[in-house]
Amino acid sequence: MDNNKLAQLLFPDVVNTPEYYEEKFPYRKLPNKAEVTRMAPSPTGFIHLGNLYSALADERIAHRNGGVFYLRIEDTDEKRKVDGAVETIINVLRYFDIEFDEGAGYADTDPQNAYGPYFQRQRVEIYHTYAKSLVERGLAYPCFCSEEDLAEVRKKQEDNKELTGYYGEYALCRNLTYEEIEEKINAGESYVLRLRSQGSPDREISFVDSIMGEIKLPENIHDIVILKRDGVPTYHFAHAIDDHLMRTTTVIRGGEWLASAPIHYELFHVLGFKMPAYGHTAHLMKFDEETGGKRKLSKRKDPELSLDYYRRDGYHPRAMKVYLLTLLNSNFEEWYEKFPDKDIKEFPFSIEKMSQSGALFDKEKLHNICKNELSKLDENEMYDFLYDWAKENAADKVDLWFADKEKMLSILRLYMGIGAKRRRKDFIFAKQILEMIGYFFEEKEEKEEFKLPADITSQVLVDYLESYDHASDNQAWFSNLKEIADRHGFASDMKAYKANPENYKGSISDVAEMVRIAVTGMSNTPDLWTIIHIIGEDAMREKINAVIK
Ligand code: GLU
Repeated sequence: MDNNKLAQLLFPDVVNTPEYYEEKFPYRKLPNKAEVTRMAPSPTGFIHLGNLYSALADERIAHRNGGVFYLRIEDTDEKRKVDGAVETIINVLRYFDIEFDEGAGYADTDPQNAYGPYFQRQRVEIYHTYAKSLVERGLAYPCFCSEEDLAEVRKKQEDNKELTGYYGEYALCRNLTYEEIEEKINAGESYVLRLRSQGSPDREISFVDSIMGEIKLPENIHDIVILKRDGVPTYHFAHAIDDHLMRTTTVIRGGEWLASAPIHYELFHVLGFKMPAYGHTAHLMKFDEETGGKRKLSKRKDPELSLDYYRRDGYHPRAMKVYLLTLLNSNFEEWYEKFPDKDIKEFPFSIEKMSQSGALFDKEKLHNICKNELSKLDENEMYDFLYDWAKENAADKVDLWFADKEKMLSILRLYMGIGAKRRRKDFIFAKQILEMIGYFFEEKEEKEEFKLPADITSQVLVDYLESYDHASDNQAWFSNLKEIADRHGFASDMKAYKANPENYKGSISDVAEMVRIAVTGMSNTPDLWTIIHIIGEDAMREKINAVIK
């Protein structure tokens, strides 16, 4: 068979050669040890925590030594494409402050986009150039088998209890002659292009996976499809060419691709490319209350797998990043405790420290990290964060909450413990925060119950309003509360109360709690006097009067 003639028949329009592209995309000039990584999502519209987890790993690996992290869009599968999905991916990376240097999101004319285009659909000519070269070397051939032909092969293999697939003697189109091929093409038959696998079932490949360690797998023997009927490449073929020409050194990708590694190994080999280092990530896991064991986070069962979830509820991007780093590298937490004030970018990130068995997602831990990270903000940063969130996610409430900036800032100062001896850590995410402080702006729907009978509560509250003086400072206000306690049979002195609780209706703390619940709807809040002074005397009286009635 004249392979050149066949290549010309199949690819009459290809004008370039692989050498052309090798020259056009030279090795990158980067510092020693610098790595080139990428995020290569398919624009399916669903981007989840696992994607962010890998993206952060990619970003850290690239940037720890002055390398490059770029974004490539794997849009070869028309059926799975969703409008707006690329924007979503870019927005998510920007929102979580995961810096990428190159690729989709930048214009092709931008100087940093020298290795593009970064959308696979725009690279078809490049794929065809390499496919043609494989045909010229007898390493690829057209296959005209229909779905029915393939089903028949499969049935035969299953009946014979043999490995299913398109290989060896089952590869029906492997040995078509030039004349047969030409005839079919002239008759308008459609075809895919297949790799002529050189693999053998009794040989193994072995390589060191940066995360999983040493991997040994049987060689690929399948004549896999590299170009589909419409000439668009499969993932296997496209990723090999792209990662090579974009000069990727390190590929971090989902563990579901590990089984295909032998295909990629062969493709890199026949294409004459050096393999990048692969790191296959384990699935994020979750503690399963039903079984008491670990299970994979699932799209169907776990809303917290979706990144939308965190944006909708307003998790601070920095807290998410810190949390993901604790999942990514087991020694991050210790480092961060030791150097709480260092930029997290200084953490010596290591691929080897990524979990082989699947990092365990733990919401409580995430929440603790959120509390801690939010406690590092000042009131203005917190204000901006909440305001931005509310504009997007609670448009109907923005005017109510943010009409008076000074009021909001005083609430935040109080709740964050700014100026107090110790910072408070009540805040977790935007939605929870605004719910927590919502009573400053509108009546709470669900108020806590008063502990004492209604008539006693009313008597105390009436007295409180009668004796209230808005000019009193915190101390004088509290002394008045104690006097109220004494007048109504409550102990104003805690020691006296503890010694003989039976002599009293309750203590000063019960009295304070009545006022607290009446004003805020909650029994647990920061300093009540300050709250009253933020709300103002009239609003306080109105709230308490409503309870008395
Ligand atoms: N497009 C592939 C996916 O979304 C990318 C895998 C890879 O990173 O190579 O699963």
